[in-house]
Amino acid sequence: MPHVPSPALCDRDQSTTPASGLARADYRDITLYAPERGPCAVDVSDNTNLWGMPPAALHTLGDASAAAVTRYPSLYARELREELATYLMTDRSGMSLDERWVVTGCGSDDVLDSAIRAFTRPGDSLAYIDPTFPMIPVFARMNGVVPVPVPLASGLRLDAEAMIRTGARIIYLCSPNNPTGVTLAREQLEIVVRHAPGVVILDEAYAEFAGESFVDLLAHSDRLLVTRTMSKAFGLAGLRIGYAAGAPALVAEVEKSRGPYKVNALAERAALAALREDAGWVQHRVRQAQVVRARLTRELEAMGLAPLESSANFVLVPVPGAERLAERMRAVGVATRAFGGLPGVGDALRITVGPWEMMEAVLSALSTELSSAATGGLR
Ligand SMILES: *Cc1c(COP(=O)(O)O)cnc(C)c1O
Repeated sequence: MPHVPSPALCDRDQSTTPASGLARADYRDITLYAPERGPCAVDVSDNTNLWGMPPAALHTLGDASAAAVTRYPSLYARELREELATYLMTDRSGMSLDERWVVTGCGSDDVLDSAIRAFTRPGDSLAYIDPTFPMIPVFARMNGVVPVPVPLASGLRLDAEAMIRTGARIIYLCSPNNPTGVTLAREQLEIVVRHAPGVVILDEAYAEFAGESFVDLLAHSDRLLVTRTMSKAFGLAGLRIGYAAGAPALVAEVEKSRGPYKVNALAERAALAALREDAGWVQHRVRQAQVVRARLTRELEAMGLAPLESSANFVLVPVPGAERLAERMRAVGVATRAFGGLPGVGDALRITVGPWEMMEAVLSALSTELSSAATGGLR
């Protein structure tokens, strides 16, 4: 007879039980990633494509026969890697790439995590620009790696020398950077890539919105890994498809660390359809995002705020007490992403750009809450 645990054991809430003797010591300070992500009428908090998903990808999902999921998906998503290599070549990189240059994953989160694991051993360090994508120090610690924040220079610029001086096994850069929206200077990037002691990861999750990519730097470096995602411009965040490009020998190590079957069968089919048939849709949405970004920036300035000049699909606007302000905006149905005390910025709200009606709702909630704060309503 199979062993059946007693109801008392089943009922016990494991999440509140300290697994003191079982947990890894270096996991003690790691918490689950959980920004208050309940549903909200107007959600401009996560930089996804607020215009929706591309039509050919949508059609493919609707069409998916059950047969597609009874068997395992492709081991390492070869067909998708081929298509992504082609996409990167048409993306003004001037590079000649094929599937050996590309590795995919369950979101670029997975690719970043796999890359950290591939090129470090526990106790090594990972240097990253600060502020940047908040998951980076978390992925470092999940792999027993010491995260080393390196503040951006004044004007939120990349300080190449400071990055190199860390001697870190991995240097993480992000351009356009999340959450600032600022593009890093090519000349500083080139210095890092040329003199880094280890691997350089350049996260280009928002490259499509910048109209500029640094994928061409791969031509001169065997230690650069450029990560990308289909979660932002391509509108497929829920399907979890990320990828990286780099020299084949480097990519092969990430592939080992990643392991097989990481892109599920339906996601791969939809991603292939999007890459083959939806380029026009993506371009159109990107142009819309750029127009809305400029208009949103002007409107925020008209309110007396000083938003940063963004090259991404979001705008970061410094405002004291941003976390409190975001809570109040959420209470009236508008979810933004708040940051407290960002180095070089201070408190700030990050607003994803989307259809103008959404922006109007955001601006209206923001101005209402700001004026109620000014008249003493915000305590
Ligand atoms: C959104 C984001 C990612 C994660 O993308 P997924 O592919 O959805 O995992 C990675 N890096 C940056 C900077 C991001 O903003």
